This record gives sequence, structure tokens and C-alpha cells, in this order.
Amino acid sequence: MKMIIHRGSHEIGGSCVELKGSSTRIFVDIGQPLDNRKVNLPDDIENCDGILISHPHADHYGLIGMIPDEVLLYCSSLTEKLIQASGIFSNKPALTNKFIHFTKWEKFQIGEFTITPYLMDHSSADSFAFLIQDNESALFYSGDLRATGRKSVLFKNILKTSFPEIDVLILEGSTMGFEPKEFPDEASVEMKMIEIMKNESGPCFLLCSSQNLDRLVSAFKAAIQSDRIFVVDIYTAWILQIFSSISENIPIIQWEKVKVLSKGFTAGNHYEVIKKHPEYFTSFSREIYKAENMITMNEIENNPNRYLIKTNYTEKLIKKLNINHSSLIYSMWSGYLTKEHNPKGYLQYEALKNEPSINFVYAHTSGHAYVKDLKKLAKALNPKMLVPIHTEHSEEYPKHFDNVHFLLDGQELNF
Ligand SMILES: [Zn+2]
Ligand SMILES: [Zn+2]
Repeated sequence: MKMIIHRGSHEIGGSCVELKGSSTRIFVDIGQPLDNRKVNLPDDIENCDGILISHPHADHYGLIGMIPDEVLLYCSSLTEKLIQASGIFSNKPALTNKFIHFTKWEKFQIGEFTITPYLMDHSSADSFAFLIQDNESALFYSGDLRATGRKSVLFKNILKTSFPEIDVLILEGSTMGFEPKEFPDEASVEMKMIEIMKNESGPCFLLCSSQNLDRLVSAFKAAIQSDRIFVVDIYTAWILQIFSSISENIPIIQWEKVKVLSKGFTAGNHYEVIKKHPEYFTSFSREIYKAENMITMNEIENNPNRYLIKTNYTEKLIKKLNINHSSLIYSMWSGYLTKEHNPKGYLQYEALKNEPSINFVYAHTSGHAYVKDLKKLAKALNPKMLVPIHTEHSEEYPKHFDNVHFLLDGQELNF
């Protein structure tokens, strides 16, 4: 087998790896770089035998809009649904690519490659690692993973799995070079949320990604334990609806303790999207207006300490609501709070932090594995070569792993 990392050998995001056998050529991930710089597709990608998408984060799938329709895209069914939903709510044209769905842990074939998708614990739902084999060699692509989320059992199971001899492990290292922060795992984030909500006499607001399934579930559980109702915007309500296709334990607006802000300005852009795509949303466009599923600003003002509110319009909502005090739980990467990483958006957070009537609290844990867990994974897979990807600090790898082999973007490796 031959491999080329087209992007990702020395950066987090934009991952794209090409694999060539004697008669088959595939790509693994086709991500948009996190800095959103313009990049070209790898040469001759239009004639490949397929592209695997590890999970529905744009730094792994973001360039699929540029891929010709005849190229087959392999991902899980949930991944396709989340990618389509992101596109629709961003007012992008619907994707016309051909998706082929694989099932977790079930082997499938692309030409001479046999591929086994392993479901991993990550901040996105349905994040997969891939074991890719041909007649001669075996490669393991870690995708994005962690060991400390709500699905940490998946990580433990991987450590117990018996694998064939692995020639190459392509291992993500997002946390390489960073010290673990205040919150070691998802459970500690949930505990912090409960503490904040119990001590707040006004409403609590949550800033997090609507596609971070673990975080939404943590927030819902924390709300219940604090005797609050979980209030979401239309977009988040729809994403929860999609998530509910994989588990009946996902909080959706039909649940008594979940409500949607579907009227007034907080419905704004989202409702325009729903009106534009009736065939896509079907009965959901009626569900969000059923009295038992929705909530109004008045109801929040009347009982402010009964709600945890997750909306894309938090800043505006805080200003419009007639309330004296609130807590704002910031539950995303701390980099977005800095000028260095978020030159356009950080001032909006500064304003919220400096507002005396808002108790601004950080409660977040990484979606990526710490070095100690990556070491466990490397030990379990015992590869002949370990190639860094999805990292800003590949130079750290030899301190922690044996057989590290560095590649530059575009450099070919034969094994
Ligand atoms: Zn990533
Ligand atoms: Zn990811």
C-alpha cells in the first residue's frame, strides 16, 4: 500500500489522506482547514474509487461540495444527515453527491481494500476510526477520538480488540503540546453546570455547538437535576431530532422537559430555512408550533429560574428579556475567547464577560484524547510505523511513542 497525507501532517483540521493499492485508490477524509483558507482538491481525486468520511466535522468533510457527483462518498447514515442539515441551515445548495452508508463495526469492500469502521468516543456523534487492509498490509486511521466522553466505553473496547498486525497507525494528536485544562471529562462539565444552575436565581444560558451530542445530553441532564427545563432554538431542536434516530435517550422537543423557542426573533433565520424546505422537514415544521413543545419569552420572564437556554441568539435574547441577572455557561474551546484564534468574534464574548448582570462561567472539556490515552491506543495497536496527523506538535510524538515516522503534506510512504 502507498499513502500520502495531502493535508493534516502538521495542522489540526483539513485532514485528507490518499491510499493506493495495486488497483484501488481511495481517500480518507476531505476536510476544510480550520483557518478556512482556500485549498485545492488533490490531483485526480475525481477518478478515485471512493472517499471515506470519518465523522461530521467540517475539518474532515468540508470540501465535499467541490467533489464531482460521480465520486462515491462512504460515511454513516447519521453523518450524512448531519452534513445535509449543516448545509441547509447555512443556506448552501443541497449536496447532490452519492453517499454510501456503512454500519459500525461491519466490514465493507472498496475494490481491493477491506475496511472496518470502529465507532469512537468524540465530541461529534458517529466518529469512526478505520482499519484498512489489502492482501499485503494493514493501516489504522484513528480519526478524531477521546477517552473521556459519554461514550468512553468505546475507547475501552478498542483497547481490548484484537487486531491484525498493523503496518501503519495514522494517529491524531490534537492535544499534543497542551496541558489538560480544568475539566478532565464530560462528567465534570455536567457537575459544573449543575453547580451554576443551582446557584442562579435567573435564567441560565448555554453556549456550545449544536452538534456536540455529548454536551447537549450533559446539559439536559444537568438541567433536570437543577429543576430546569432545557430550551433550544429551532436548529438545535432539529439536530436533536436527527440524533434521536440513533438512540431513544436523546432529549427532543416532544419531551416534557425540553421546549423550543420557535416564535419571535429567536425563530428568525431558522424558520425561513424551514419554510424553504418543506419536503425535507416534513412534520417537524408543525411539531415546533404545538403548544406543548414550544415556549415564549414571556414564560421565561415569568419563571426565570426554571430554564437552561441554548440558542444561537443568546446575546440578543439576554438583552431583550426583562431579567435582572443570568448565568452564561461557555462550553466550547477556550481559543474562541481570544483575539489570536478568533479575531472577528472574540469581542462579542468580551462584552458578555464584562456585563455585570451576567455570571460568565467556562465549563468545557476537549473532544480529543489526552496523551496518556493516545499512548494506550498506540500500545494496543502496536504498529510498525506511527504517523502523526491532526496535530500542531508532531515533534512531541517521539517523546511518547515508538516507531514514529514523520511525513510532510504531499509526501508518499510505501509500506
Ligand atoms: Zn478534526
Ligand atoms: Zn472532530
